[in-house]
Amino acid sequence: MLEYSKLADIYEKLEKISSKLEKTNILANFFKEVEKEELKIVVLLCQGIVFPKYSELEFGVATQMLIKAISRASGFSEKKVEEFYKEFGDLGLAAEHCVKNKKQMTLFRKKLTVKYVYDVFLRIAKASGEGSQDKKLLYVSELLNSAEPKEARYIVRTILGELRIGVAEGIIRDAIAKAFLFVKANKEEAIEAVDYAWNILGDFGEVALLAKEGGISALKNVKPILGRPIQPMLGIKAESIEEVLQRHKEVIVEFKYDGLRLQVHKDGNKVWLFTRRLENVTKQFPDVVEVVKNHLKCNQCIVEGEAWPIDLKSGKPLPFQKLSQRIQRKYDIEKMAKEIPVQLNLFDVMFVDGKVLFDRPLKERRKILERIVEVVPFKLQLAEHIVTGNLKEIEEFYHKALSLKQEGVMIKNPNSKYIFGRHVGGWYKIKPTMETLDLVIVGAEWGEGRRAKWLSSYLLAVRDPDTGNFLTCGMMGTGLTEEQFEEMTQMLKPLVIKEEGKKVEIEPKIVVEVGYQEIQKSPNYSSGYALRFPRLIRVRTDKGPEDADTIKRLIELYKSQGKEG
Ligand code: AMP
Repeated sequence: MLEYSKLADIYEKLEKISSKLEKTNILANFFKEVEKEELKIVVLLCQGIVFPKYSELEFGVATQMLIKAISRASGFSEKKVEEFYKEFGDLGLAAEHCVKNKKQMTLFRKKLTVKYVYDVFLRIAKASGEGSQDKKLLYVSELLNSAEPKEARYIVRTILGELRIGVAEGIIRDAIAKAFLFVKANKEEAIEAVDYAWNILGDFGEVALLAKEGGISALKNVKPILGRPIQPMLGIKAESIEEVLQRHKEVIVEFKYDGLRLQVHKDGNKVWLFTRRLENVTKQFPDVVEVVKNHLKCNQCIVEGEAWPIDLKSGKPLPFQKLSQRIQRKYDIEKMAKEIPVQLNLFDVMFVDGKVLFDRPLKERRKILERIVEVVPFKLQLAEHIVTGNLKEIEEFYHKALSLKQEGVMIKNPNSKYIFGRHVGGWYKIKPTMETLDLVIVGAEWGEGRRAKWLSSYLLAVRDPDTGNFLTCGMMGTGLTEEQFEEMTQMLKPLVIKEEGKKVEIEPKIVVEVGYQEIQKSPNYSSGYALRFPRLIRVRTDKGPEDADTIKRLIELYKSQGKEG
């Protein structure tokens, strides 16, 4: 049985080096040594995860509970643990420190094995219902109680979901290929096969085991598993329709619906719905489940489409927020389904009655889709489309999509396979570009865990020239690199006016250029509007708060989206 301390040594080695190639080699050698029975677990743990992405299990352990557990296992007070956390900026290091300088003797110390730690992780995640918090706390404390200092560092980080060893999915993929396939296949072919199987199975642990036992052909023959989502194909942004037509003489053009992407799995009477981020939303959409169950004429399939909320009277789309309400809803779901009906527009099929269709060209897949879909007006339709090579026709179709309040069009290469992820030669997005806004930062929040040392989300505001006030319009916390977080923190710290818990108020001085996907009405911000998915484009050192965009401009842009009501 592999000891957990051996895994912790590997983690430490990986943490210390930065070269990707070296990391890959260390992992490949390690994977080769691991016994078959433990390989699946080890591969997952090396990714810093315990449950594969598609799994709905999660630890459900908050930072505060970990602090309690560290305190219990080491004898340091919770306050002291928190101080170490602040000092090191990393709860894993704080745990290591506490365990190393334990205040109490451990009576029963088990030598931890990887299998044992993994089983306890599972037990923590599976504890639910009444008393589950106490159980979770007990399991974590016991684990830390038996842990060596270094083991404690990585146990805590794994539970937090921040292993910090610099191993991204690409490195795991390459390491699996190198460990098990390089002898028989060439490098590219091997990596491609691992990638293919991973996109379908979503679990590098399983992929590694397949590679070890069945080699490259086992990976290439992987079939989708109904009920387990596959990675979606994505579009790339095209500069213009002409640019796409230069690449492809004839194209399939579809409406780009502004809704929720759904990957639909059907197995007899069972249906699953997954979002683009592979979250299971089956429960939230009983209406979609029903229509799919009865109107897809096949026994088993995986199809894909975009669901959008529809106003049954006018047949026009309702604003996207309505759909968000349905996604978040946990009760009265049936009632909600009646109030906000959705229409599913299917555009692809990847699997049907035992046949894997990824390698078939889109035009063939589309024909199969047309064969199996029984259209139910307003509920289940095929994505509106044209097949053409004519620029004018595409432009007209594009304008039609916009006038029907959709986002734009997707132009697709009819000969393209279903390729996971974003690739040239497959799908192209054409939509109007949203103008950016120059906004003032008026507040911020200290981050959590890894980001604890940074002000890591920023409250954005527009200017009201009439009053001189700044009106908030969104919170931005993505699209920044570590360096940028550092830079922003340096810049904003001297401007802090007031601090309350994690929240700080900032003197309005810094202007940032911000991109976003959409402007929505929102009661949560003083401007009455909120940016959806705001992202930093750059800091406008050349602008002062008096140059920032105004509330008037924000409203104009909101209206230009043509989405009121
Ligand atoms: P984006 O989110 O801008 O990368 O655009 C890709 C998204 O557009 C997909 O994930 C779908 O949710 C959505 N979409 C809407 N209509 C279509 C369509 N006809 N084909 C493919 N994707 C579509």
